[in-house]
Amino acid sequence: MISKSNYVAYKQCHRQYYLDQHKANLSKVNGSILRRMEQGKEIGELARSLFKNLVEVEYDSYKDTMIGDTLDLMKKEKICMAEASFLYDDLFCSVDILVKDNDQYDIYEVKSSTSIKKDYLKDIAFQYYILKQKGLKIRKTNLIYVNKTYVKDGPLDLDQFFIIEEITDKILPYVKKVPETVDRMRQLEEMPTFLPNSHCSECGYYDYCYKDLPSDSITHLYYYRKKKSQFLLGNKRFKDVLEHDSHLSELQLRQIDFHYHDRDALIKKTLLKRFLNEWEYPLYFLDFETLDYVIPKFNGVKVNQRLPYQASLHIVDNIDALSHKDILIEPSNDPRQEMCQFLTEEIGSHGSIVVYNASFEKSVIRDLMDQFPEYKDQLQAIDDRVVDLLDVFRNGLVYNKAMGGSFSIKQVYPALCPDKKNAYHDLEQVHNGIEAMSALESLNDLSGRALEKKKQALKAYCKLDTLSMVDIYNRLKDMLK
Ligand code: SF4
Repeated sequence: MISKSNYVAYKQCHRQYYLDQHKANLSKVNGSILRRMEQGKEIGELARSLFKNLVEVEYDSYKDTMIGDTLDLMKKEKICMAEASFLYDDLFCSVDILVKDNDQYDIYEVKSSTSIKKDYLKDIAFQYYILKQKGLKIRKTNLIYVNKTYVKDGPLDLDQFFIIEEITDKILPYVKKVPETVDRMRQLEEMPTFLPNSHCSECGYYDYCYKDLPSDSITHLYYYRKKKSQFLLGNKRFKDVLEHDSHLSELQLRQIDFHYHDRDALIKKTLLKRFLNEWEYPLYFLDFETLDYVIPKFNGVKVNQRLPYQASLHIVDNIDALSHKDILIEPSNDPRQEMCQFLTEEIGSHGSIVVYNASFEKSVIRDLMDQFPEYKDQLQAIDDRVVDLLDVFRNGLVYNKAMGGSFSIKQVYPALCPDKKNAYHDLEQVHNGIEAMSALESLNDLSGRALEKKKQALKAYCKLDTLSMVDIYNRLKDMLK
């Protein structure tokens, strides 16, 4: 049987579909994927409230029961059903919401996204095809998705929160492709070879597919957008694209050169000195940990707004003395006001605020600024003084082979400070951003000693994120001596 999730998986990546069928135990769903799935489920349930007198076809692993229940409900002249289920040949789908109006039907698919994506159209085309083959007269096909401009103000206003858009014309070209695609799916007997694509980073088979790639695989090449097309041409390694792609960037060329040769670290001293000299003491090394929710939890919060539940601040004064402050707010509370207080009380009126990848911290600060006018001037002054440590690497001022073309702090830190190479690994419970997000969210369900331990783990992780920036900064200063 081919379900709509099988169909979507195949459309995204043939290999993913094959693995789902034959090696599903290899899939590792990380906290971030799980969180998105849970929020999607929540949105699906919420969207049902848009329909009056909705009847749900109860889930049953024995699909015939769902199909039989659907047929019974369809005997009514007018009905609105959730999970109406159909089988045509070996193709099975459950429609999120199906409205019957005499002999006509409207399909509604619900997504937790804030825009219409091509994958959704393919998914809905599969359902449309099955329903058509079953002889149903489809009047309209609609997508229900989330209005990204929605701001919570009192109880959730579903009519404002959701956008319902008719997409019948948009899916028709994809409907035509369904028979041919399912034929190919039925014939797939061997695992397709690995082909990097835009879905890999969110795929449960990522570790399986990527673990044995050679160290000079173009999948490791910095910001290289032609991975899939070059793989299809057989150019899978650095040396292949060096020969066949004349449009590699300076950073990509340098990464390849360092990979194949033993070179001393590259340090553009004059530029690095100029860059660091612009920073003013005291230096405030700042990092946030955030949670975002599709359905805003608090008044004044936007859809998917990053709420800062945690911050770490290392302060280096002009005699290089180091101090540390932090804050951790439990996720059942609205953290914004407390975070405004923390930032405006702990960050003085002078000195640079050093972050790693400024767009993230700036977006958090700017949301706070917009939503808490009483802190606007102070937060604006903080925002104006943000400098980005990542620019040192992104702008090519420093590079060494150990960075391997990645400028994430988890890669740069051990590359520049090898004595700290196990620092993240040695932490307890929380070792990366995804684990931090899951740990933060889990605080709601913990109490007593377990709660305290989790909080300590989160604090240690966030503290290391800013301490690593301090260490990198000191290393850069040493390079200038
Ligand atoms: S990791 Fe990428 S190539 Fe592997 S199955 Fe997933 S999407 Fe396909």
